[in-house]
Amino acid sequence: MIAGRIPCLNPNCRRTAAAERYRGCRHIICGKCWKQLPERMRARHKQLNSRSRTLFRLSRKEKYGDALRTTQWQTIERQYDDAWDRLNQTIIRYFTATELPPVGLEDFLKENGIG
Ligand SMILES: [Zn+2]
Repeated sequence: MIAGRIPCLNPNCRRTAAAERYRGCRHIICGKCWKQLPERMRARHKQLNSRSRTLFRLSRKEKYGDALRTTQWQTIERQYDDAWDRLNQTIIRYFTATELPPVGLEDFLKENGIG
């Protein structure tokens, strides 16, 4: 591994990104691998991002100022965080599950005349 670079999550992908640009991240998903993800995972990512914007917008409204400290708001935040964790785990499993051939391996074998 080159210093200052973090790898793509897909073990069969050799792309890296500047660690400086993604502080605190252990890996990235490059655009090529992102497009290989099933549509439902990308749709879920989009949905959660949209919810993030909604929650942020609500949190800035004065009338929700006190609501931010309610247990209801905390529950929503926790559920939201859990939803992200689940999606991240799903994506990580998709690329690293051992029972399936790793994503991209078939193409690699074909390209090199092995498969
Ligand atoms: Zn990649």
